[in-house]
Amino acid sequence: GYQPCREFNVVVLGAGGVGKSCLTAQFVHNEWIESYDPTIEDSYRTQISVDGRQVMLEILDTAGTEQFVAMRDLYMKTGQGFLLVFSINSGPSLDELKTLREEIIRIKDDENIPIVIVGNKADLEDSRTVDRAKAFAFSQRWRAPYYEASARTRTNVDEVFVDLCRQMLRRDDM
Ligand code: GDP
Ligand code: MG
Repeated sequence: GYQPCREFNVVVLGAGGVGKSCLTAQFVHNEWIESYDPTIEDSYRTQISVDGRQVMLEILDTAGTEQFVAMRDLYMKTGQGFLLVFSINSGPSLDELKTLREEIIRIKDDENIPIVIVGNKADLEDSRTVDRAKAFAFSQRWRAPYYEASARTRTNVDEVFVDLCRQMLRRDDM
């Protein structure tokens, strides 16, 4: 039968410099731009088809520069799915995800909120400092899928957004 287009709010979170803006731009515009203003926070609308269903995404590429805690609380509240991004060459960026996840769960008051963990900059294998196994263990504990991705080589970029859409659609169906 006819299925209306679902609309979801997605929030891209993670430490500064992990590649949130590059991942978002690759997904939305299919382009690689070497450098973005790290303080710019913007949102993008894009429609994709997931398993034959039309999904409209409103993607907020955060910059962690909110002047008020209340602003962060607000987008966490309106977010229906979260991409938690770190980079495989920064251990501290993985640690930062713990705090972010706790904050999301506290604000959403929901342990099963759709989340995907993204280890970005997978093209920088030579400078990897975060074991794949360690990141995977984190994701298991959080019952969230883990992907290694590269905004630069456009590896697993669509996959992380599609996985998140599937999780959000599944909840929508329940
Ligand atoms: P944000 O602060 O999380 O939004 O990070 P940006 O998207 O602005 O990226 C920060 C820096 O990392 C920039 O210099 C990008 O060129 C670089 N970068 C982002 N993604 C990748 C990637 O997948 N591979 C490599 N090698 N560099 C990346
Ligand atoms: Mg950015």
